[in-house]
Amino acid sequence: MNKWVYSFGEGKAEGRADMKNLLGGKGANLAEMSNLGLPVPPGFTITTEVCTYFYDNGKSYPGELDGQVREALETIERIVGMRFGDPENPLLVSVRSGARASMPGMMDTVLNLGLNDVTVQGLARRSGDPRFAYDSYRRFIQMFGNVVLGVDHHHFEEVLEQVKRDRGFDLDTELKAADWQVVITGYKEVVEKELGKPFPQEPAEQLWGAIGAVFGSWMNQRAITYRRLHDIPAAWGTAVNVQAMVFGNMGDDCATGVAFTRNPSTGENRFYGEYLINAQGEDVVAGIRTPQHLTIAGKEENGSTLPAMEESMPEVYQQLAAVRERLETHYRDMQDIEFTVQQGKLYMLQTRTGKRTAAAALKIAVDMAQEGLIDQKTGVLRVEPKSLDQLLHPTLDPKARKQIIAKGLPASPGAASGKVVFSADEAERLSELGEAVILCRIETSPEDIHGMHAARGILTTRGGMTSHAAVVARGMGRACVAGAGELRIDYKTGVMSVRDVQIRVGDTVTIDGSTGEVMLGEVPTIQPELTGDFATLMGWADTYRRMKVRTNAETPLDSRTARKFGAEGIGLCRTEHMFFDAERIVAVREMILADSEGGRRAALAKIAPMQRNDFVELFKIMKGLPVTIRLLDPPLHEFLPNSEEEMREVAEGAGTDLAKVQHRAVQLHEANPMLGHRGCRLGISYPEIYEMQARSIFEAAVEVFKETGETVIPEIMIPLVGTKKELDILKAVIDRVGAEVMQSSGRKIDYLVGTMIELPRAALQAAKIAETAQFFSFGTNDLTQTTFGISRDDAGAFLPDYQRAGILEHDPFVTLDTEGVGELVSIAAERGRKTRADIKLGICGEHGGDPSSIYFCEKVGLDYVSCSPYRVPIARLAAAQAAILGEQAASEA
Ligand code: PEP
Ligand code: MG
Repeated sequence: MNKWVYSFGEGKAEGRADMKNLLGGKGANLAEMSNLGLPVPPGFTITTEVCTYFYDNGKSYPGELDGQVREALETIERIVGMRFGDPENPLLVSVRSGARASMPGMMDTVLNLGLNDVTVQGLARRSGDPRFAYDSYRRFIQMFGNVVLGVDHHHFEEVLEQVKRDRGFDLDTELKAADWQVVITGYKEVVEKELGKPFPQEPAEQLWGAIGAVFGSWMNQRAITYRRLHDIPAAWGTAVNVQAMVFGNMGDDCATGVAFTRNPSTGENRFYGEYLINAQGEDVVAGIRTPQHLTIAGKEENGSTLPAMEESMPEVYQQLAAVRERLETHYRDMQDIEFTVQQGKLYMLQTRTGKRTAAAALKIAVDMAQEGLIDQKTGVLRVEPKSLDQLLHPTLDPKARKQIIAKGLPASPGAASGKVVFSADEAERLSELGEAVILCRIETSPEDIHGMHAARGILTTRGGMTSHAAVVARGMGRACVAGAGELRIDYKTGVMSVRDVQIRVGDTVTIDGSTGEVMLGEVPTIQPELTGDFATLMGWADTYRRMKVRTNAETPLDSRTARKFGAEGIGLCRTEHMFFDAERIVAVREMILADSEGGRRAALAKIAPMQRNDFVELFKIMKGLPVTIRLLDPPLHEFLPNSEEEMREVAEGAGTDLAKVQHRAVQLHEANPMLGHRGCRLGISYPEIYEMQARSIFEAAVEVFKETGETVIPEIMIPLVGTKKELDILKAVIDRVGAEVMQSSGRKIDYLVGTMIELPRAALQAAKIAETAQFFSFGTNDLTQTTFGISRDDAGAFLPDYQRAGILEHDPFVTLDTEGVGELVSIAAERGRKTRADIKLGICGEHGGDPSSIYFCEKVGLDYVSCSPYRVPIARLAAAQAAILGEQAASEA
């Protein structure tokens, strides 16, 4: 016989916390709390396997289920000494869904099930409180009518409003027992009218109706959508929890509440929660009454005048505080709990791992490890790497003068200054030109995403902490002030005003997403302090990680930022990015547009000294850490002049005429520049370019040694290689120049020459390429582009369709496609190592900063990942987690 039902109660249970797959999260934890001897009202869980059976068998139940439910119900009856449907002493139950992962969108709760026209009288007599009994019955009809029978809420609301109007009442609390009876009659009429049959009076019919509604809700549209967004397989199914009711609304010695065992926003090790006296569960979240604080400290911190539970129910509070201790030492993590107090007795209704902010996650992980509740490795695993982003943002310099013009909600942390723009397109356009912008909108919508991404900060005049702007900005790590209602934005005139201040498009403002302040002009910011818990946890992460973490940087500012964040060298210096500068771009264009080697050498001579100085600076900042410099890889369309003005500048610089430049630009125009004359192909056609760059690198290494005594070992990297021959030819150029510089300087320079692996052919030919290459760096941006045959620049237009259609789970340019692109990475790593056992392997595509891609890199055994500066801490933590998880998996195997 299959076991479909698991009972709990009386200090024991048939289930356990580690049976989440079978019992769902809620059911497993109710069982666990019962086993711990905590006061849990008795109940039972119908397993997720019943849900699976239900859908596999035309929405029917296994034959044994009825008997097992009946037996479990009898167990509850025996424990509490009441009977389901008993007219004198009726047992009432709650019915709740509970999947493995908490899942909004499914049927949540039906309370007070078992009430009918007869049992309600029994409840009234037993409790001595008819008002309570009839209020409970009408709540039940409303909940059951809505979630099980599908009668819309507003029908019930209309009945209640009508009764209140008739009696001249404002509040529900003014209704007496007799008034609730009138409401109940009205509710039952609504049900009968909407469904053509009366409200079910038989408790067993009610129970099976609620169970069926929970299973049915697993496949409702909201639940399906939620599962799709969160990668939850439909096959998991939900469990159903049936539990004896306890009442927080039977008088002033009753209460209900929710709490976190530590503060979920700061992580502070203090009990944090709210309760309401004489209330039922949904009242706390419904926001009709103001909840009171559990502790005196919480009350004082929040300036509340209502008594804390610690004062109003000191004995129960002490019990609850003891439960908190017990749960934390048992689960060894911060818990989110629900409880009810019935006539002075405490009952636990739920516990689960509590959600928390990034700052709280850090503090809790560090504190718990120091308290000895968990070990350091567990602490490292407890913090979501991506969440660190919330902690790495600049804040306003407290010494700076601020001219505050408005205040909104502190919707997403960090401070940002920039030029005011009023449209997402304008935000994107200006930021592409290198401007910092603040996107100011009345409110934002999904069409604004590109502009929000491009902006440094987002300011809205309408909307709250969960408005589109707030939610999206937090997700993106952009500073956001939402709902600054004093500000008026007029899109037509392009003016934002408050009192007598008028701000026009292009004016500079500063917003502080941590306080909600909006300020005129630019206010200086300071970089975050990377000390305290952050430093402690990162220190632990560094001891457990195997892979090194480098950065993708070419400017001194980025390199310094990355060093501060713990980068262990540069994994990708994109030399073409060093040429976008207004001063240099003309010379670079001259070089690209020159139609002879002489012309190119003339332009290169202008660039060489700047290039050498760039490298000197980078080498000095990196103080002997490895620096990988990639030789020029310009997709030509990014460099060719567009306007006549730009062409004229080039013509002047090169001493030729405009027509010639225009002609050459047309000649160089490519249909498909990403697959065109870029990367090493340029070096093959014009070796003098790479020759200049290699010379600058070697000369910089010599100069830095002379100035600082620091020995630099440059790693020179060739982009877009597809064949060994390309690399051979270009390495020969580099070696020749190296020999020349060593000869003329009289100093020996150690250096490495390696290649990007960013074409499928290169990955497949890795064994041969490794005969020449001393290192590989996986350029997974191009490798993704060329493996999928999807343009990096155009994918945004149709990838969302692919994700919606379930073809791709993630954007492969963000999260490595481990199946396809990843297979090429593994092949190349394996073949490369076969030829050259000590070949250095790294990754420098965007994926180098993406945690799930980093887990893959650990599996393949890369030596390092390289990512943009702000992602360095994320990568350090993700690399540590990957190493710890890898080690755990190996020891389990
Ligand atoms: C890559 O292709 O992954 C890479 C790092 O190079 P780029 O993005 O400069 O093409
Ligand atoms: Mg590339």
